[in-house]
Amino acid sequence: MSAKIDSVLLIGGAGFLGHHLIQQFYDRCPGIKIHVFDIRPLSDKKASYFTFPSNEIKLFVGDLTSPEDISKAILESKCDVIVHSASPIPDVGTPELFEKVNVQGTKNIIDVSKKLRVKALIFTSSAGVVFNGADIYNVDEEWPYAEVHMDKYNETKAIAERLVKDSNDPNGLITVSIRPSGIFGPGDRQLVPGLINAAKLGQSKFQLGDNNNICDYTYAGNVADAHILAAKLALQPKEAHKVGGEVFIITNDTPIYF
Ligand code: NAD
Repeated sequence: MSAKIDSVLLIGGAGFLGHHLIQQFYDRCPGIKIHVFDIRPLSDKKASYFTFPSNEIKLFVGDLTSPEDISKAILESKCDVIVHSASPIPDVGTPELFEKVNVQGTKNIIDVSKKLRVKALIFTSSAGVVFNGADIYNVDEEWPYAEVHMDKYNETKAIAERLVKDSNDPNGLITVSIRPSGIFGPGDRQLVPGLINAAKLGQSKFQLGDNNNICDYTYAGNVADAHILAAKLALQPKEAHKVGGEVFIITNDTPIYF
């Protein structure tokens, strides 16, 4: 894989997945300039797993719903690739916030990226865009979006994914969507801490269903890997058409029974 990424802008890069993206871009793309755009700064304390030098990461603190903030970051970073992995946290955000950040914010990123001639936009979607609460097996990328979504978070992730897909331009901005399931790994603040908390509160003594439910979880490093592969392919003129406007489900291959 030969495409060289000179400069990447990681929107939502101060988050859990963001840290894995920084680490892998740092490890695998020698010489790349890594920029983080986030509404909060990078924490001084990162999990010991992460070895990237924080002082080499240029940070833009801003709101992705602001055209001015996004324009400034794109212009100053001179990024050829944007990875957009920002979202309000599912259990915490309000419907209005999901709409504003996931839908209007994603549209803002697309519009400004096109205007400023960014080459590729890699969007972190979610497997939840096809889930309506009923059992589904062996889902692939052709599976239709849920007609009724589980909640506003998943609904707005689906709308954002469609916006990203539809904005692919073979002669301009190449867009790719990556769909992970629940993500686990070093630095996780939601999944495993949530399970531990539920266990501590004695909330784990229930069985829902017949104990045959399966759920897919994805290792954070695999999710970051998928974003980097997508970014590299999107920058290769002979390969870009294979990923442009596409969606890729990222799994660990083995479903987890719970
Ligand atoms: P996270 O909360 O750790 O990171 C998201 C980052 O987005 C945060 O740093 C946050 O400050 C930033 N952000 C939120 N609103 C913003 C705004 N208006 N402007 C700028 N930055 C803003 O979440 P994560 O677990 O790292 O998830 C990353 C992405 O992966 C999200 O898009 C999420 O929808 C998707 N995803 C996550 C999971 C999971 O299990 N964690 C599963 C499927 C998909």
